[in-house]
Amino acid sequence: MTISKRQKTLFHRFGSSGSHNKWKDWKWQVRHTVRDIDTFETVLGIKHPPEERQQLDETLRRFPLSVSPYYLSLIDPEDFRNDPIYRQCFPSPDELRVCRTDMADPLAEDTDSPVPGLTHRYPDRVLMHVSNVCAMYCRHCTRKRKVGDKDSIPKREAISKAIDYIRRTPVVRDVLLSGGDPFMLSNTYLEWILKQLSAIPHVEVIRIGTRTPVVLPYRITEKLTTMLRKYQPVWVNTHFNHPREITDSSRAALARLADAGIPLGNQTVLLAGVNDCPRIMRRLVHRLVQNRVRPYYLYQCDLSEGLEHFRTPVGKGIEILESLIGHTSGFAVPTYVIDAPGGGGKIPVMPNYLISWNTNKVVLRNYEGVITTYHEPDSYEQSFCDRNCADCHLALKLDGAEEYRAIGIEKLLADHDKTIALVPAHNERHNRRKAKAEKKGARS
Ligand SMILES: *Cc1c(COP(=O)(O)O)cnc(C)c1O
Repeated sequence: MTISKRQKTLFHRFGSSGSHNKWKDWKWQVRHTVRDIDTFETVLGIKHPPEERQQLDETLRRFPLSVSPYYLSLIDPEDFRNDPIYRQCFPSPDELRVCRTDMADPLAEDTDSPVPGLTHRYPDRVLMHVSNVCAMYCRHCTRKRKVGDKDSIPKREAISKAIDYIRRTPVVRDVLLSGGDPFMLSNTYLEWILKQLSAIPHVEVIRIGTRTPVVLPYRITEKLTTMLRKYQPVWVNTHFNHPREITDSSRAALARLADAGIPLGNQTVLLAGVNDCPRIMRRLVHRLVQNRVRPYYLYQCDLSEGLEHFRTPVGKGIEILESLIGHTSGFAVPTYVIDAPGGGGKIPVMPNYLISWNTNKVVLRNYEGVITTYHEPDSYEQSFCDRNCADCHLALKLDGAEEYRAIGIEKLLADHDKTIALVPAHNERHNRRKAKAEKKGARS
């Protein structure tokens, strides 16, 4: 794979000479990371007006700039202001606007953390922050508060403590490595982590969230994939936001991962001025599946500080899904989610397809607007589930069914659970009952 004429020009503007192959060396890319506005402008051949400069410098002091030469080379200098690549990597003074509803840690990742660097939010899976380093600082980063922190690569000691937690917590069957970007670690360090995790009997899958196929595709080397395939099943989730990010180089990186037998998913963030358009999204998901990447999530932009200018109304996401569901391959449609502020986790949101319901019929509408009915069975025999799998006709001989505890709404639906209502912890009416009961107890 050769590099483009434009990339050759940029290569020389970095003061590099000799073989253009160096451009494709990820370490050359990291060494030439652009971290200041002057270099950014010189290399790209653009200029911001002086009256804007002061605000930009101020933004940079709060939220640093960092972009790989490769990602920079994808910007169209003729129309950089509207460029989706530029908007994702170049600071905007709008980032300094902290609005009323912004939060430093909207997802409460620091609160739901039993050991530093690990978030245990869902019953059976955990998120591990294995690095604070990224090949590019996304302007829309949800962990903006941490971007550019010193001591960014956690020491082996810190990682070991997180791994110990997983080792002694048998419900964890899925470990998600995130960061920062786990692929910014050396192969040796990453392998050290993977080796320990995969040796834990109850860890069934390891997932890696990385943006390197988008911003530093040369990081996906043969050596890396050869190492990864030793620890299968490893799933990789990447983060493409715009069809323009799918280039020959990123295609090659994705192909290498897929050829190593690694299932690929993609998480897109819905961003105003970047991809808040059904046509852009449709092009993006088509390019992804063409490259063996399954669109996994479409995220509503989080409430982190300084992201307001990137946020769209939820209706924009619904409109995009409306234009995908039914119109294109089912596996090209991501699940649209809002990551609940306060740590409630990802909540899926969908257009409504269920229009009405009676005791034996449901009324539905399809993507074309056709309204149709589905007849429910007249003779469905509801069997009472007392979790006695041995006597059940479903022939599922599962161990430990008696101990299985339903959670949340699942609890309300389960036969074997007597819960009839879920009540918020601070419900006043229930607090009064409690107080009354205590008073009575104190008297007797
Ligand atoms: C997103 C996330 C996960 C993984 O969620 P999935 O829906 O299984 O992809 C796990 N832990 C935390 C804290 C997360 O934010």
